[in-house]
Amino acid sequence: MAVAKIQILIVEDEEDIRELVRYNLERENFGVGEAASGEAGLKAVAQKKPDLILLDLMLPGKDGLQICRELKKNDTTCDIPVVMMTARGEESDVITGLELGAEDYIVKPFSPKVLVARVKAVLRRKAAVPVPDTEDVLRICELVIHPGRHSVTVGGKPVDLTATEFGLLHFLARRPGWVFTRYQIVDAVHGEDYPVTERSVDVQVVGLRKKLKKAGDCIETVRGIGYRFRDEE
Ligand code: CA
Repeated sequence: MAVAKIQILIVEDEEDIRELVRYNLERENFGVGEAASGEAGLKAVAQKKPDLILLDLMLPGKDGLQICRELKKNDTTCDIPVVMMTARGEESDVITGLELGAEDYIVKPFSPKVLVARVKAVLRRKAAVPVPDTEDVLRICELVIHPGRHSVTVGGKPVDLTATEFGLLHFLARRPGWVFTRYQIVDAVHGEDYPVTERSVDVQVVGLRKKLKKAGDCIETVRGIGYRFRDEE
């Protein structure tokens, strides 16, 4: 019996890019669907829900951000991971896309190998979700994070964190590899001891890294975007 393939939908108006992506994904045994416009993409999703969508941002008609917004607003499609395909210089669009709920992005021109690796990483993370609930202890990168007790140890030694630092660390660490914008972090981390603003996120990260010592390297700066917790794989 044939095993159902993982289905990837490519939404891209440039035919040569669609072909390049299709070729490389099919070689990795993915099933591939194509749409040459955002509207066609939405139609394709409604007909057959893919496991992941590769979404070009510059599309005729509705652009990629609009499509992403519609997908993430809709209860039946909001859980489909979206990887944006962007051109250089679309940094602000990338930020908007991430804030709308896109999982990742890749900048054109990209190497097909990198693209395939990104797709696999996103699918792997998606499989690892649901995000552990607040009582689950997280063990990652020498850290043990205990949300219920609001306690953290590094290599077995307790570290004294403020509520905001703890919230920030927990938020990033429960989704290793995911890039979050400063705005998303502010939104997620409501400090009791600190009025968190986008700029204060940087200050908090500096303080947090210092307290975590070597383990602080796990909090990576993503230039122009924000922060992510290192994916150990
Ligand atoms: Ca395009």
